[in-house]
Amino acid sequence: MQDLDVCIPLPLQIVLDDVGWWSGSNDSRQNGPYRTGISRRHVPADYLAVAELGRRLDMRPQAAMVLCEWDRENILKNVPSATWMGKNWDNRVNVGPQLDEAAEIIRSNNRHFEFTLHGLGHEFWHRDGTFSRAEWADDAGLRSETEIKLHLDYFYRIMEMNKLGGFPKSFVPCAFKYTFGGNNTLTRLLREAGIEYVSTPLDSMKTFETPQFKLFGIDASLFVVDRGTEPGVAWYAIGGEAPEKMIEGCICGLHWPNILHENPEQNLEVVERWVEYFEAHNKVFTKILARDTFHHRAQLAYCNLADLQVKEEALILDFSRFFKLFDQHFHEGMTVRIKNNRKCEAVSGDARLTVKEDSDFTAINIIFDDCRQRQVKITLK
Ligand SMILES: [Zn+2]
Repeated sequence: MQDLDVCIPLPLQIVLDDVGWWSGSNDSRQNGPYRTGISRRHVPADYLAVAELGRRLDMRPQAAMVLCEWDRENILKNVPSATWMGKNWDNRVNVGPQLDEAAEIIRSNNRHFEFTLHGLGHEFWHRDGTFSRAEWADDAGLRSETEIKLHLDYFYRIMEMNKLGGFPKSFVPCAFKYTFGGNNTLTRLLREAGIEYVSTPLDSMKTFETPQFKLFGIDASLFVVDRGTEPGVAWYAIGGEAPEKMIEGCICGLHWPNILHENPEQNLEVVERWVEYFEAHNKVFTKILARDTFHHRAQLAYCNLADLQVKEEALILDFSRFFKLFDQHFHEGMTVRIKNNRKCEAVSGDARLTVKEDSDFTAINIIFDDCRQRQVKITLK
């Protein structure tokens, strides 16, 4: 048992930005929105590509949604800052059966498609019609409380009119303009709306306080995770080749066109390349694909804050550092991996265990019986 190699693997979540446009045209030079830049209209098969990526990997990738072109009733006339047409907003060109088809794909693939808040029109249009980057904030600061509330409210109204489910739990700030700490308005309003998880590159956000850890921070109960800059695929790269280098951080940040093909019938060929790329990550001892955003949050916290020791025939997990930051365990539990080539039986009087053996290592999933348990002992046989 001395040479037993154990670890709490670092989880990886996939985040795809700018899902939701129907036009592909990047109109940013004409004071319009940065869309995906694909030279065709988006189609329901583009939503299937996201769901298929999730299904093949048994994950729930985040689709960070931009919703203005789902407005069936032109209600965004009431929010002139949300679109390039302001009060004259007219979305009739995008209203058609493809909305129902795509909504059905999103609903029926709920286990493999997480609906994440991104924005309405992605930028913020001032009264004179010019825009500034981006919807929730620009370099000068956050939008006003009234505007942020209005944008959140209308995002949900458009979700409702398309029967897209309850308000999301996760958020990606447009153009990564985000503020951490200082009891700021955006954090407060996001939390009040039901958001629990934010991902953005921590290096580039505005900070009133320093995030507690390299890969995440807690800001007034929002879990803010570092998206980093990996894998460095351009946001407009269509059918982007999966990179050679693996992701070292905890999020692979992509954009919708990266997993699509110019010909939507060939979308799944592109998805296949990404599936291979991510599967290779899961085979690395110290990396694990997150089942979903909440498993990602839990595993990331435990990976940073649980202490794992091997003592004789047992693994001892100590959560003293964890409880300095959190009040209770996460329901999703955590995963420990053991590198060995023999059968392994694990028992614990402190937690429920599920053991899964792979060719290279054994994974033990741990669900805590007591939400305040400070130590867990797992005996190996
Ligand atoms: Zn975006």
